[in-house]
Amino acid sequence: MNVCVICRRALRTDEAGHACRICQERGTGWLRALPGLYAAAEDHLAPARSGAGGGRVSGSKHAPLPVRLNVLDAVGPGGVVWVIAQWEDVVRDQLEFGSAPSRGGYLETLTGSCRLLADQAPWLYGSFNAVDELHGELRSWHARLSAVSDGADRERRITLACPCGAALTGVTLSTPGRRCDACGAQYGWTELRGLPLADRSAA
Ligand SMILES: [Zn+2]
Ligand SMILES: [Zn+2]
Repeated sequence: MNVCVICRRALRTDEAGHACRICQERGTGWLRALPGLYAAAEDHLAPARSGAGGGRVSGSKHAPLPVRLNVLDAVGPGGVVWVIAQWEDVVRDQLEFGSAPSRGGYLETLTGSCRLLADQAPWLYGSFNAVDELHGELRSWHARLSAVSDGADRERRITLACPCGAALTGVTLSTPGRRCDACGAQYGWTELRGLPLADRSAA
């Protein structure tokens, strides 16, 4: 009896290939989701970039470093764009499609690679001999990029305005309280959440 090379489920008679329909649908879904997750992860890097450029954006030095390293690891060299493009090259080579066009930026490159692979999903899951490896990569990148977005949202830093005019930077959902360095006012958990958001340009 033939089994799916990925999940080991017995293949139905109409599933002639390497992997089952369920794995194919899951993998295709990951391919379709990756560009959006990548764009969201890139957004989390934006404050770091403008902070390094202008040096005026408050909060950049308080930004959650582990999350940022995590993002850089995923979107930087050797990250998801590069890995998925490598897979695209392998697939293009086997299908004799010729080399991938130059698509511009990282997001455009990833979008193009994912689209080509998603379009070829029936072939990938039916005939591609490394589909289990590819499927594992897709699962892991999907999980990593999802975790970046989730983690960054949970620990998102906001800046609140003290009535004295000073900005209270780096406040997160878990900040227990804060003392204003300018006027000395002490805010507990509840009071802190009653303060308005600071005007970005003033912060
Ligand atoms: Zn399967
Ligand atoms: Zn104050």
